[in-house]
Amino acid sequence: MPPRHGVYNFSAGPSHMPLAVVDRIREELLDLGETGIGLMEHSHRGSSYMNASAEAADVCRRLAGVGDDYAVFFMPGGATVQFGLLALNFLVGDQVGAYADTSVWARKAIDEAQPMRNVHVAFDGRQGDTFRCPDPDLAGSDLEAPSDARYLFYCANNTGEGTWYAKPPQSDLPLIGDLTSDIFSRPWPFDKHAMCLAAGQKNLGAAGCSLIIARRDFIESATSKLGPILRFSDHEKAESILNTPPTFAVRVMGLMAEWTEAQGGPAAIAARNELKSSMVWDTVDESGGFYRSRAAVSARSHLNVTFETGNDSLDRTFLTEAKSAGLENLAGLAGVGGMRASMYNAFPVKGAEILVELMKDFARRNG
Ligand code: PMP
Repeated sequence: MPPRHGVYNFSAGPSHMPLAVVDRIREELLDLGETGIGLMEHSHRGSSYMNASAEAADVCRRLAGVGDDYAVFFMPGGATVQFGLLALNFLVGDQVGAYADTSVWARKAIDEAQPMRNVHVAFDGRQGDTFRCPDPDLAGSDLEAPSDARYLFYCANNTGEGTWYAKPPQSDLPLIGDLTSDIFSRPWPFDKHAMCLAAGQKNLGAAGCSLIIARRDFIESATSKLGPILRFSDHEKAESILNTPPTFAVRVMGLMAEWTEAQGGPAAIAARNELKSSMVWDTVDESGGFYRSRAAVSARSHLNVTFETGNDSLDRTFLTEAKSAGLENLAGLAGVGGMRASMYNAFPVKGAEILVELMKDFARRNG
């Protein structure tokens, strides 16, 4: 797909979207399905929006491959809002939520829960200068969680650090995954989870709304001492229309999920994501030490590649040169620094190729 204005957008989110989806949204903003009413002007109680919302949930259900024992629905608010709701819904009295702390976003989930409820940190992925995830070969023995914890929360892809879980952590506890930056980027066993959540702004398009895929009995086990608007199960029972939902974002999520399915689904997309990311990771490895990354090799993400030269001023020069070459938004997360190439499902392979050319040329000139 050709870049717009010669720009490749490596933004970590909101991020690059397929032009076909953007074009469709442009049409629907004027007129949704030949109704003469634009997408954002339709009543959320009318059949046009209700069908669009139901279709969005259906396609997400197909991509996740879950059965009827799972609910698939949309919650207002991004991932951070859901982090707070998790604690409110599932932690009552002395109950403890266990968290694997592998990143700034996992830490955000802890920070949202801790002022209200009991939190136990089951894993610290930020020892020394390297970012790690639990070792999949250790079958969960490097996670230390109370056996009666209400759930184990983990962040599947650590957007800022450039690490991911090759597979979900092993635990007998109900598993809650934050899949905000890797949803539908690879086959994932949703049916091993009590709940997965993902905000929209990466592989699902629009910010401000979250997709929830959760075991029905789990969300129904939430405390009843909460107003309906804060309870996951009330949103699900109301078919994601408990109050006025973020209609635009839900429609965009549906269109992004349809696009994902048309590409061949998570398995086909995973191969392309691996191709793009391995080009960049290989360039880091083959640079003779010019580039380095704090992401543990065993946990390298296929969506966010983080690297640095070890010299802040050289990093800044790299970012300036990248920008002049049309490679935008390559700066690392504040607090992590360096460079970060975010290449989600819709990001073109060509963008990765151009980045790699620049990295090699820059290393030759500055190494
Ligand atoms: N989790 C992950 C993995 C993220 O990358 C982000 C940032 N998009 C969040 C959570 C927070 O999402 P939001 O800004 O929608 O609350």
